[in-house]
Amino acid sequence: MERIGGSRVFFQKDNQLYRRCAKCQKIKPAEAFYKNSGMPGGISGYCRPCTSKYQEEYRKNKPSLKTYYQEWYQSNKQILQAERHKKRESNQMLKILQDRAWLEFNKALRKGLVGGPPLLCQLCRDIDKIGTKYESHHPNYNEPLRVIWVCKSCHRRVHREGTQDYA
Ligand SMILES: [Zn+2]
Ligand SMILES: [Zn+2]
Ligand SMILES: [Zn+2]
Repeated sequence: MERIGGSRVFFQKDNQLYRRCAKCQKIKPAEAFYKNSGMPGGISGYCRPCTSKYQEEYRKNKPSLKTYYQEWYQSNKQILQAERHKKRESNQMLKILQDRAWLEFNKALRKGLVGGPPLLCQLCRDIDKIGTKYESHHPNYNEPLRVIWVCKSCHRRVHREGTQDYA
């Protein structure tokens, strides 16, 4: 058994590569190590038994993702619940405002106080949309009589992008 290039880790005997395990310090033939192309000699630094022991300990000591999440959730529970509650409340408020504006606008529409849908969608002005049903959209729910008439897809987009001002 002789050192390779004076190395204290790699050895050779009968053209066979040996290395010292970085964990148990025993010198073992290359086959006793897992292949690892990123490591010198193309084998891992720990021998196979040491690698398995290491992995087992790691598994045991590392909290699972689920535990981690549960702990995180427990410590943030109150904040999360308060946030969800606030969001639900503001969504409900918005829905009420939306319904009220819509009702009022439709009342005005029936009375002929406001105009109905124009020929073109007021956002995309796509001539291919002529003849399809336009929907009234309130840029501001506090101004129930001010709407824009938009095609279905523009209406969906405008709500998704949240470009309305609800002030
Ligand atoms: Zn070892
Ligand atoms: Zn449109
Ligand atoms: Zn709308």
